Order: sequence, then C-alpha cells, then structure tokens
Amino acid sequence: MNPTLPRAEALRRLTQAFAEAGLANPRGDARFLAEYALGLSSSELILQGQHPLGESGAQALGEAAARRLAGEPVARILGEWEFWGLPFRLSPETLVPRPDTETLVEAALRLFPDPARPLRIVDLGTGSGCILVALLHERPKSFGIGLDRSQDALATARDNAQANGIGTRAVFLRGSWLDALAGPFDLIVSNPPYIAASVIPTLDAEVRGHDPLAALDGGPDGLDAYRAIFSQIARRPGLLAPGGALALEIGYDQAEAVMALGAESGFSDITLNRDLAGHPRVVTLRPSLSIRG
Ligand code: GLN
Repeated sequence: MNPTLPRAEALRRLTQAFAEAGLANPRGDARFLAEYALGLSSSELILQGQHPLGESGAQALGEAAARRLAGEPVARILGEWEFWGLPFRLSPETLVPRPDTETLVEAALRLFPDPARPLRIVDLGTGSGCILVALLHERPKSFGIGLDRSQDALATARDNAQANGIGTRAVFLRGSWLDALAGPFDLIVSNPPYIAASVIPTLDAEVRGHDPLAALDGGPDGLDAYRAIFSQIARRPGLLAPGGALALEIGYDQAEAVMALGAESGFSDITLNRDLAGHPRVVTLRPSLSIRG
C-alpha cells in the first residue's frame, strides 16, 4: 500500500477488496487488521483517519491484507482473539476461541452461582485456556487445572492465565482426559474435539486449514471424547466432589447422543443449553447417587 494514503481511505479500499474477494465480513476484517497493523485503538483509527499510513504502517497493513486474502482467519493473523471480554494469545495448537463457547462458561457459572464459593475446576483440553481463565475470572476464590496433550497449547494457556491476572490460581498440565488426576473436582468442563472424522474434510477452509486437527477430530462418530470422560468418571466416582458437575460443549447435532451416553454412565440431572443462535451447544450433568464413591 502507498504510505501517503490516508488511513480512512486505506480502510475503504481494503473493505472493498475483501468484499470483492467474497469474504463474509469485509468491513470488520478490514478494521481489525488496520488496528492491528497500525497499532491503533478503534477510536484512534476513526479520529485520526486523515493521517497517512506511513512507511511501516503501509507495509504491515499490506502484509496482513495479503494473508487475509490468501484465506488466513483474522484471529490467526492477529495471533490473539477475545473471549469473554478477555484477550487470549493463540498458537498453532490452540483453537481460535468461538463465541459459542461462551455458552459453556455461562452454563457452568449457573451451576455454581455463588462467586464466593471456592471451586476446584478442571478443564479438559484447555487449548488457549480461555474457558478456565474466564471461569476463574468470574469466580475469584476458585482454583483450576487446565489439561492438554499439547505442550505448545499449555505454554500458551499459561501465558494467557498470567496476562489475565489469574496465573496464581491455575496450573496447566499435560495429560489425557482425567487419567493422571485424582480429584475431587467441583466442576469438570471441556470443549473437546467433537467433529466426526469423516466431516473434517467438509469443514470451512478457514477452520480446516488453520485450526489444529487434534482440537476438532472426535473420532469416527465425533463422540470419542465424551465416552472417555464419562467412563473415567463412572469408574472413579471420587473424581467428582459431592454436588460436583460437568459442563461439556457439544456439536449442534449431538445433544441426544451425548445425553444418552451420560445417562448410560450413571448421570442424572442432565440439562441442555442452547447458544445464541438457538443451537444445542452445552450439556451439563450431575451424577446420580449410585455412582458416587
Ligand atoms: N466449534 C468448533 C467448530 O465448529 C469445533 C470445536 C470442537 O470440535 N470442539 O469448528
């Protein structure tokens, strides 16, 4: 881009180029990338729209725009994304936090409405740490463990916990589901991989090409993670504290299957929560007394 171009004009041209390329959200994308590349807040970008881009701004914006036009999601270009109103750094092995997942945070908070209660929380497949960090942010007396198979994700989650001021109340450990943990936990949360393996090739290119496969692939029918989590808790009921609960994100068409798997594993008190689009998105479960150890 030309360094003498006023910021507002650059923004207009970028929006137009993104629209012509068929991007779903050309104006929003252009704005995010301009703020990022020029190092400006949204109000600075608007109020100082007549300032020229400048040499380094023009170069940074040109590079960011080229990446976007090549199909890279905005969140990946920025290297961070907002969730629950908090900033989260991303890495190649973390999923971009989705707004749908805020439904999981809301459902979990509804299960434990008292902010003063010290909860013991575990987040299985923590990724960027966004779910655990949001929960600990809302429940300031609580402690949490974030588990992941990816060291790269764990390092990112640790940074995010620190940056969001809850670093002393969270630890991040490598592990597979609940294998290495003894509990008891008051709250077990997870947004596990839940896409059926055969569906992965049909996903949007921006998801398929940029989100880590390990965070998406839920096995042949997409339900492997739920089976693993439920069976571990059924075998080792001490993992859940008395009154403890699970909150799990699910795919839009998995409510019946996940609720049935939960019931088979001895859970009762099973509730379905919908996201803002009205899709089934989160199942919460509490065990019946018979599987309590
Ligand atoms: N919600 C994600 C998507 O639609 C999937 C995340 C997951 O498998 N947990 O791509």
